[in-house]
Amino acid sequence: MSLPDSVLRDELIAHLAALDEGALRRRRRTVEDPCGPHVRVDGRPMLAFCSNDYLGFAGHPLLAQALQEGAARWGVGSGASHLVSGHYHVHEVLESRLAALVGRPRALYLSTGYMANLGIPSALVGRGDAIFADRLNHASLVDGARLTRADVHRYPHANLGALARQLEACPARRKLILTDAVFSMDGDLAPLPELLDLAERHDAWLVVDDAHGFGVLGPRGAGAAAHFGLPDTWRVVYIGTLGKAAGVSGAFVAGDEVVIETILQAARPYLFTTGSPPALAHALLTSLDLIAQGDGRRAHLTVLIASLRAALPLQRWSLLPSPSPIQPVVIGDNAETLRVARALWEQGLWVPAIRPPTVPQHSARLRISLSAAHTLEDVAHLAEALLRLEASA
Ligand SMILES: *Cc1c(COP(=O)(O)O)cnc(C)c1O
Repeated sequence: MSLPDSVLRDELIAHLAALDEGALRRRRRTVEDPCGPHVRVDGRPMLAFCSNDYLGFAGHPLLAQALQEGAARWGVGSGASHLVSGHYHVHEVLESRLAALVGRPRALYLSTGYMANLGIPSALVGRGDAIFADRLNHASLVDGARLTRADVHRYPHANLGALARQLEACPARRKLILTDAVFSMDGDLAPLPELLDLAERHDAWLVVDDAHGFGVLGPRGAGAAAHFGLPDTWRVVYIGTLGKAAGVSGAFVAGDEVVIETILQAARPYLFTTGSPPALAHALLTSLDLIAQGDGRRAHLTVLIASLRAALPLQRWSLLPSPSPIQPVVIGDNAETLRVARALWEQGLWVPAIRPPTVPQHSARLRISLSAAHTLEDVAHLAEALLRLEASA
């Protein structure tokens, strides 16, 4: 008996070809050195402006040493989920330290930011409730909102008036406002005090994803909520990630005791996954020390940001008004953005081209990210190359 023909695989081939057609196929580069500004990539020495390693900790020798010590003390795997037998003393210590650093009563450590964002909204709202989400939120928040089965209202980016009208018009019993604190492809900050004000007036939760602010913003790197001086209220659910400025891997949610206990009981991406290796938690303790003592690095980063902005008076392209280490240059067209990224690459400069669907149509951009490990010379070098390319485009 012969099997019937199938188009399943042919459809995949056609889809990949369509990605090529639209200059949308993504390719991975292979890095041959620890994360840092100077790395060999596919055999070539490059100056990189790609990573979220804002403080330059990912390749820090003290963190590598802490991870080795952690593995010697705790072994490698956790063996089970946290609620079975995969929760170790070092996880407890890490959670207390995280809560103290961000100034909230309790924290819960999760494996990744993506998993935190998938699970946390569902612990707070469900079918028949309403979520109000900034249109530029990170994909993980979009997915986390969907999983709740609540009605999702997306409001125009940072538009408080539109959000207020949506909240006003919504009869749902439970409401939740969901936002990035620092927008990952634009670099701007959400107006957190005003969002909290709206949350209070409409009796809503405020869930804040500070993946790009934790370690970078606020006193001692305590993050965007501390930067804005948000009060410690049960209403604010603060999510930080530990694979960006913290230089390791993982995430945490901090807030009110009852809220954190609820998330621990209910968040499926926490319950049904193997506990993160305790050795990572051990390394993260050193990372938190480095973050708390990192004023010098944060001050240098601020100087680099100002210096890049001052050196880029762009004409045809536009440098978005970002105060953070994420400095996007919007070019618009996908193919042109790729061309510019390739031209930079040929000069030994590695800057990622970000295209739809990661960013809206016609807003393809170079996403420059700065790190305290860069020098002023690195930044000047990049700015000169960009100005030359813009002039010749
Ligand atoms: C990177 C990122 C995440 C995901 O965090 P991971 O720990 O890398 O999974 C979530 N939210 C935002 C805004 C991010 O930029």
